[in-house]
Amino acid sequence: MNNPIKVAFFGECMLELNGPAFGVMQQSYGGDTFNTAVYLSRCGGGVIKTWYATALGDDALSLELERRWAQDGLALDLVLHIPGRIPGLYQIQVDAQGERRFSFWRDNSPAKAYFEVAQTPLEARSNEWDGFYFSGISLAILPVNGRNRLLAFAQALRMRGATVVFDNNYRPSLWPDITVARDCFSRAFAVADTALITADDHQAVYGLASLKAAVAAAQALDVFEVVIKRGAAPTLVRSGSGPWHSVPTQTVANVVDTTAAGDSFAAGYLSRRLRGKPPEEATQFGNRLAARIIAHCGAIIPLEAMTDLL
Ligand code: ADP
Repeated sequence: MNNPIKVAFFGECMLELNGPAFGVMQQSYGGDTFNTAVYLSRCGGGVIKTWYATALGDDALSLELERRWAQDGLALDLVLHIPGRIPGLYQIQVDAQGERRFSFWRDNSPAKAYFEVAQTPLEARSNEWDGFYFSGISLAILPVNGRNRLLAFAQALRMRGATVVFDNNYRPSLWPDITVARDCFSRAFAVADTALITADDHQAVYGLASLKAAVAAAQALDVFEVVIKRGAAPTLVRSGSGPWHSVPTQTVANVVDTTAAGDSFAAGYLSRRLRGKPPEEATQFGNRLAARIIAHCGAIIPLEAMTDLL
């Protein structure tokens, strides 16, 4: 790639176990920012290059994860290795009603310790990044000092004109309490120039009375570019002082698995915006990509199942 658009992500990718407790389980891997990085790499039209910044252990599972991430198209030279740690893990179980339940083992996962070195490779190479992407989960997994470092890094990037994208994924169980989460989310919006908002997460973080109130609050955010996702309802987007556009989602006859709906939307959206396409067109493509992902099982669907979109 000559002069690619360089985008760095920070977050955690965990091992995934999928299947009934004490039964036969399928092993895979995933994580919100990771899913977006992989889909952006696939949709980048050969001009966007994606780096995944995280920490892993020095065990065989960590090495195998890295081997697979490289096959997924990610650049790995921002990955740190913390001796003695092993990757986080989650299990997905589907109950009798078809509801998915997640259990996590991530309290001691290496990604939490990414900012415990004097300077991370992400920070050391801060002049290189055209874009930086993080989420509410990226912030949630870090200790206070790590969160401050991440936000300061994002702000420095933004000040020199890079695209800083914040996705408001909110997992209450990862936060000590909601006021800490709220404060961090507000700081993240202050350093981002693009906010990708899931309306119900915005409602939950800010304790808003209704989804309507959450959409109104998201529309009032002081962020240059805002996208508001509302499941199957039309996606709302506004850039700068431009008008709000309402972009219909695709009709999906058979929703198989909504894992990574928002993550893949983000990748589709950015794959177009980073190449200068208008917000409405980018949103259309994000909706198309997300519709394809939710018609398949798992966070990362096979490349063959989406080549016609690329
Ligand atoms: P998140 O996955 O972040 O919770 P949403 O549930 O709002 O976010 O979904 C993200 C995107 O996935 C939507 O903006 C839309 O493009 C697509 N999507 C989600 N659910 C549906 C659906 N039932 N039909 C069509 N598209 C959907």
